Amino acid sequence: MNTRDAPLTPAAMHWHAMQPQEVAAHWRVDPQRGLAEDEAGRRLAASGPNRPTAIRGPSALERLLSQIVQPLVLVLVVAGVVTAVLGQWVDAGVIFGVVLINAIVGYVQEGRAQAALAALACALATDTTVLRAGVRRRLDSTGLVPGDVVALAAGERVPADVRLLSGRDLQAAEAVLTGESEPVAKNTAALPADTPLAERRNMGYGGTLVVAGQAMGVVVATGDATETGRIAGLIVQAPDTVTPLTQRMARFARQLLIAILALAALTFAVGVWRGGVPFEVFMAAVALAVSAIPEGLPAAMTIVLAIGAGHMAHRRAVVRCLPAVETLGSTTVICSDKTGTLTENAMTVREVWAGSRAFQVGGHGYNPGGIATERTEETGPVAQVAGALRETIVAGALCNNARLVHQGSQWTIQGDPTEAALLVLARKAGLDEADLASALPRRDELPFDPTRQAMATLHEHNGSCILYGKGAVEKLLPACRSMLDENGREVPLDAQEVEAQALRMASEGLRVLALVRAILPVGEPLQSGHLASGLVFLGLVGMMDPPRLRAITAVRACHGAGIRVKMITGDHPGTASAVARQLSIARDGSRAVTGRELAQMDESALRRVVAEADVFARVEPEQKLRLVRALQANGEVVAMTGDGVNDAPALKQADIGVAMGLAGTEVAKEAADIVLTDDNFATIEAAIEEGRGVWDNLVKFIVWTLPTNGGEGLVVLTSILAGVTLPMTPLQILWNNMTTAVLLGMMLAFEPTERGVMLRPPRPPAAPLLDRDLIVRTLLVSAFMLGGAFGLFELALRQGQPLEQARTIACDLFVVIETLYLFNCRSLSRPFWAVGAFSNPWVWAGASAMLAAQLAFTYVPAFNRIFHTAALDMGQWLGILAVAGACALAIELHKYAGNLRRNVTAREPSPGCRPPTKPADRPPPTRPA
Ligand code: ATP
Repeated sequence: MNTRDAPLTPAAMHWHAMQPQEVAAHWRVDPQRGLAEDEAGRRLAASGPNRPTAIRGPSALERLLSQIVQPLVLVLVVAGVVTAVLGQWVDAGVIFGVVLINAIVGYVQEGRAQAALAALACALATDTTVLRAGVRRRLDSTGLVPGDVVALAAGERVPADVRLLSGRDLQAAEAVLTGESEPVAKNTAALPADTPLAERRNMGYGGTLVVAGQAMGVVVATGDATETGRIAGLIVQAPDTVTPLTQRMARFARQLLIAILALAALTFAVGVWRGGVPFEVFMAAVALAVSAIPEGLPAAMTIVLAIGAGHMAHRRAVVRCLPAVETLGSTTVICSDKTGTLTENAMTVREVWAGSRAFQVGGHGYNPGGIATERTEETGPVAQVAGALRETIVAGALCNNARLVHQGSQWTIQGDPTEAALLVLARKAGLDEADLASALPRRDELPFDPTRQAMATLHEHNGSCILYGKGAVEKLLPACRSMLDENGREVPLDAQEVEAQALRMASEGLRVLALVRAILPVGEPLQSGHLASGLVFLGLVGMMDPPRLRAITAVRACHGAGIRVKMITGDHPGTASAVARQLSIARDGSRAVTGRELAQMDESALRRVVAEADVFARVEPEQKLRLVRALQANGEVVAMTGDGVNDAPALKQADIGVAMGLAGTEVAKEAADIVLTDDNFATIEAAIEEGRGVWDNLVKFIVWTLPTNGGEGLVVLTSILAGVTLPMTPLQILWNNMTTAVLLGMMLAFEPTERGVMLRPPRPPAAPLLDRDLIVRTLLVSAFMLGGAFGLFELALRQGQPLEQARTIACDLFVVIETLYLFNCRSLSRPFWAVGAFSNPWVWAGASAMLAAQLAFTYVPAFNRIFHTAALDMGQWLGILAVAGACALAIELHKYAGNLRRNVTAREPSPGCRPPTKPADRPPPTRPA
């Protein structure tokens, strides 16, 4: 086939009006084999990658302007304009300089934050199943080309515009394209050419979601040529960066602004009334306004959150919306899946029970070579795999969609590990799945469904049709009427014995599947009713899925952090309890609550049970929503994991919805707040730790920044009210604000998460940003700034020093106090020397840059001229250092006193002091309502 004669532009083709064969012929593709790889490569070069061209965001200038059009900054602009009108060119120049630098810093940082978040969004690009050269494989959907044959399955996103060729019960949610909120049922029949888009039942459109069923289809348009690609506005925008906290801060900033302006107006009035020169009094009022405004605060908040989101991505948790970073810090309960999240999801069959006999299976992982099936009762390998044992193994190999792949010396799998383990079992027994499949070709399939907890396939053999099924014992056993004996003869079913065996295997921690078969009339398609009665029981298979080692330590860390871990699984209660014990989620002797029991409870009973039980088994996905609601009604902040389509409501309801990046469906990822790229429970724990660290850094930044503005504001206010000379001019205050915010404050965003954050209880979500202790601390620093600046300033004047020099002393004092205070703020409770000195090199870089800038401010003649400063001598520096040192010491004493008080009251030990508690002796965490 040649690309030149393959039409690659879909120019107004009515795919929906053509028969499936016509569409396939048009694209020169065999629907049974798909495109050849080299042909797909040629088409990719011609059509380009299957992704929409990025839409134009706001221009650089627009983004820069958006930094300036903020209330706090606009006040500066107005002050600058007024100052310019009054002919104070230097002052006006510096004010505009501050505005510009603030805007540039905000612009660069926010740009980086946005880019990082956008990159994270791209990291979640979808995979799709494509048929190439007769082989089904997973492919990044950007590699799709027109003519590719793709498989669509429930939970996945339709990767491009597709004309459906065949399918079963396919339903797609197309709201993104058509606005229709109900899922649309699809089929393959051709439609009239004028059928509107929303009614084209035989098409799947790129970007929409498959919510049920499965289908095969041929790609007819990719990238910008798709219907979604044409509507530029629909393309996913960069994630939202407004969080409840930033909103709260924005509101705080507005209130602060009003207060500051009112105070400035009052100052002006008082100044004039006291007989001050209106011009000078006005400049002082401007100084008050600009000094007290924390311009950089809103931008800094977003930056701290975005940096936190970046750290989480490094630890394999991709944050889909920024508020999740805040909420993570207050999580009190994690509800986790079992398979793959808490366990390895590397299944190995350990035992087969068939024909009333138990068979042990050896070997490790997916390596099928070399190990024969052994009987427990007899020594030596089984000579012959026959009777019920053989049928059980055959059923497992045929009712199966997984594949074993031999790469180098390694065996890997494609598909569901549970099914892959059954293929390995068949090979160990000397049965090859390909031989079986050609002897018993598959005619139909009822896919696995977590609500049905079973799957079936239909096979043709010597003119008859055989159903092979596998699934949960409780679901399939009641539908069986007989069983096979050792020799493969049908005998009456001994349901009690089968149940007892299943229970025994489950209590050993094995995941147990029942295998069944039935003979169906020829030509009858498979329906779920076929799994409801008339089945022949073949045998049980017990597989081992070891707990993840890192999950064990992560569960322990969560318990230490006052977070309860609950396992919610579709698996058998016995298996669930056994695994939960290995992970220390459940105490010895505690029982799993089953989905059936949950179904019978009313809401108040449910609330009691969720407060106590830690293991929930045989839970259907729909029941997860009730569990989340009951936990929330108990006042818990809930993180819930999920991967399937039916998990989406629970993920949305949870405070933190956690989707699996590898095994998860698109629908689940869409509904989640964070996506784990490794599906590992330990990653949730890491994200919570990171979330707590981010919160700490936000608080540290605020605690550092408030006294700076408060201290300066107080200095100006006091001097005006007292009618004395300003110790700092407006210009000097602006210099100070600008340099310290950029060179010092920002560096706290890079502070690594403190040791011991996972040893303290979760933060109540409604708790105020700053507690009483921290408010006292900011006032203490403000007082040092006020007293120190006035004291040293007046002292210098009394000693006959020129005004310039006295003011330089006050300015330098502010900067030195802020620099030392920065080191105090690296930990809010531990002494600054206990924080790793070089664990945040940015603090040192910032402090050194600040020192250099301040030396220039003090000694470089050009700066002296602009800022009206003068060189200081050693004695004056010593005075400054003494006051700043005393301030730093006072803060450390304040921390120490706080820790002491907390330890004495002993109820709320300080961070880092609380030993981890075992779940068994730990009372359920309580939270204020
Ligand atoms: P978790 O919910 O923690 O991921 P799980 O994987 O056991 O645990 P489900 O996937 O809902 O939960 O499976 C529920 C039950 O369905 C399993 O215990 C098993 O009996 C059965 N089952 C699982 N996978 C298959 C499959 N591929 N084919 C047939 N039955 C299956």
